[in-house]
Amino acid sequence: MKRLIKNGQLLVDGQLKVQDLLIEDGKIAAIGTISSSEVAVNQIYNAQGLFVSPGLIDVHVHYREPGQTDKETIKTGSQAAAHGGFTTVAAMPNVVPTPDTPERMANMLAKNQQDGAVHILQYATITTDRGGDQLVDMPAMKTAGAFAFSNDGNGVQTSATMYEAMQQAADLGMAVVAHAEDDSLKYGGVMHEGAVSKRLGLPGIPSVSETAQVARDVVLAAATGAHYHVCHVSSAATVQVIRAAKQAGVNVTAEVSPHHLLLSDEAITTDNAMLKMNPPLGSEQDRQAVIAGLLDGTIDMIATDHAPHTDAEKAQSMLKAPFGITGSETAFAMLYTRFVKTGQFSLAQLINWMAVQPARVFKLTTIGALKVGAPADLAIFDLTTPTTIQKDQFLSKGNNSPFIGETVYGQTKLTLVDGETAYQA
Ligand SMILES: [Zn+2]
Repeated sequence: MKRLIKNGQLLVDGQLKVQDLLIEDGKIAAIGTISSSEVAVNQIYNAQGLFVSPGLIDVHVHYREPGQTDKETIKTGSQAAAHGGFTTVAAMPNVVPTPDTPERMANMLAKNQQDGAVHILQYATITTDRGGDQLVDMPAMKTAGAFAFSNDGNGVQTSATMYEAMQQAADLGMAVVAHAEDDSLKYGGVMHEGAVSKRLGLPGIPSVSETAQVARDVVLAAATGAHYHVCHVSSAATVQVIRAAKQAGVNVTAEVSPHHLLLSDEAITTDNAMLKMNPPLGSEQDRQAVIAGLLDGTIDMIATDHAPHTDAEKAQSMLKAPFGITGSETAFAMLYTRFVKTGQFSLAQLINWMAVQPARVFKLTTIGALKVGAPADLAIFDLTTPTTIQKDQFLSKGNNSPFIGETVYGQTKLTLVDGETAYQA
């Protein structure tokens, strides 16, 4: 099977350049000027005027299966990822039962493989039941195929647990990927503690709940040499801690979510659970700090924290609704529209943070770039035609996006995974 992507615009040395791309047996066989009369091609896709990107990589998604399939399944979640131009994702382990034994890990991997519209990497938990202080059998989880270790959804509360997890992770050459949150500093909050929470009369989560735990963990990472990756950085102070740790040579990396780049707590003008996520939207100063952190390399990548919930759950007050919003289907278009079209980021930077860097940081050596011999994982985006984000277009079961109704550029036209169509508009 030979497939030719004709006249697409590819990033070459940071600039868009018209190129053809030939796919053969699931791999990129050639890039350049390729005539369909010279190679016997089974299928030609006319990508004239469209941007041909390396498939995006998202190291932070929640697929709810097993356990909460009314919110999402591996199938719908990965279809949503393909719709957003992602070709590889890493699924967080907060499902029920959680992958905390080699047997459960094997079951998850088999299901991910069977139902995944894209490549799905699987996190193992750090501790049994994703809580408490009993470490999983980390070497056995590595052997079973775990991508990395994370208790995402909750922070690891006991320092010794994190210390011992990092010692083992360092020995195994695996990353500890942390949702950083000190439970003793949450105070039952439902949004960022600040002027807006006071005005709305809603309980606030002080941002020190994130920063204090990241500060502890960079000390533990320095002591153990482990690769410590911070999930969804949300506050200015956390950016500073990571910046200082990197300058000191600690093996720390970090991600930021699209919503923490796009929104601050000033967007919350009423009790609206569509804007409830954990960590919460920070102040405008926090938002500017995470943007600056991304630009100066303190933050390495963007990851969506795609977190689907049912309409009924999110229709509740912020006091009751679960934390989280979806992200797979809106991330690229929202970020392209708000940051690249406005000139704040270059397209090459955005692709760096959404494909190149996740691959580099997590040593996914065969993906993250369009090159001859690599798997044909790619996404084709229309950067010139405006569209409106509508919930009936979502392939995710979750409609919990604050970006519904936004007019954006960057609609996905085609997503290929190993040369096969994973999504087509
Ligand atoms: Zn989290």
